[in-house]
Amino acid sequence: MIPQSNPKAGYLAHKEEIDVAIRRVLDSGWYILGQEVSAFEQEFASVVGNKWAIGVASGTDALELALRALGISAGDKVITVSHTAVATVAALGRIGATPLFVDIDPCRYTLAPESLEALLSTREGREARALIVVHLYGQMADMGAVMPIARRAGLAVIEDCAQAHGATLDGVGAGCWGDLGCFSFYPTKNLAALGDGGAIVGADASLANKIKLLREYGWQERYVSTEFGINSRLDEMQAAILRVRLKHLEADNNCRRAIAKSYDEALEKSALAIPRRSPGAYHVFHQYVIKALNREKLRAQLKANGIATLVHYPFAVHQQPAYANPCFQPVPLPHTEAVVKQILSLPIFPELSRQDRETIVSTLSLFDSN
Ligand SMILES: *Cc1c(COP(=O)(O)O)cnc(C)c1O
Repeated sequence: MIPQSNPKAGYLAHKEEIDVAIRRVLDSGWYILGQEVSAFEQEFASVVGNKWAIGVASGTDALELALRALGISAGDKVITVSHTAVATVAALGRIGATPLFVDIDPCRYTLAPESLEALLSTREGREARALIVVHLYGQMADMGAVMPIARRAGLAVIEDCAQAHGATLDGVGAGCWGDLGCFSFYPTKNLAALGDGGAIVGADASLANKIKLLREYGWQERYVSTEFGINSRLDEMQAAILRVRLKHLEADNNCRRAIAKSYDEALEKSALAIPRRSPGAYHVFHQYVIKALNREKLRAQLKANGIATLVHYPFAVHQQPAYANPCFQPVPLPHTEAVVKQILSLPIFPELSRQDRETIVSTLSLFDSN
């Protein structure tokens, strides 16, 4: 079976370098918040193009700490999309904030600016304090339209960049548009740890200071808590691994883009909808997502040919039992509800072999003829 993603192949591709990095940490005797984390934070901030980066324990933690650093707390309303990893919304649940969902663009799958405007004209929308924009599948949301709307409404803006390491829009990186950018280094992401990890990026020094306190018990100095902090640290081992992987991020993203191009060519004349690129956007293809009216048939045919696929995601967040609260949706979400029935994520990871790619391309090309 050709897998849909392959974290082990990502490790094996850089095994020697990663093994050396792991041994270096083991031998150092220093395992939490040391030189590897500081070095990674500097290197990552520079690749993203923002002033600073702070390593934390996961992408979900990054979102929670970003919200808390911006002063969002229990009872506050925060706008986001329902077509996302549930983690985006779980972070709101952790601090007791209320999500308000807006719809997506049906071809790019990211936040629809006109739906944001519609929400902001409702009473609930006007009460919102912050916005989490998700750069889904590797392409940035329409920040050129979103930022002015958000600023006019006085919203703090957090970018969920968990699927967008290295993505840019008009030359400006994911994580450099809003107040804070949040990344995950879960093993299938474009920049992957071999375990959990995350980071927050930003430009404001006082926010950086606040997040550093929050990630370690609110400690201003050791044993002196000036905030109600938590424990959310990126460990030295993952930081050392991430430093290796970061050097290959651009090449890895280029591999993903080349695979996307070959799928585009195979599907050009088919009835399947290929991912639409936004003008000025550099898409890093965390996922290659097509839309098919008869998705289950296509999925079964790919499976019969030894090709695994996934659906990201089969249900929107507001369709999940835990989040099915009518208060969360002051505006209708027709595109969100339509796309979940049609989307399909094809295999995409940098180490996908030429031969496997050809198998996928030829199976896709056949599909349309029947
Ligand atoms: C992966 C992901 C997260 C959560 O990251 P974790 O490291 O698993 O906590 C958040 N948002 C999106 C869009 C993601 O894809």
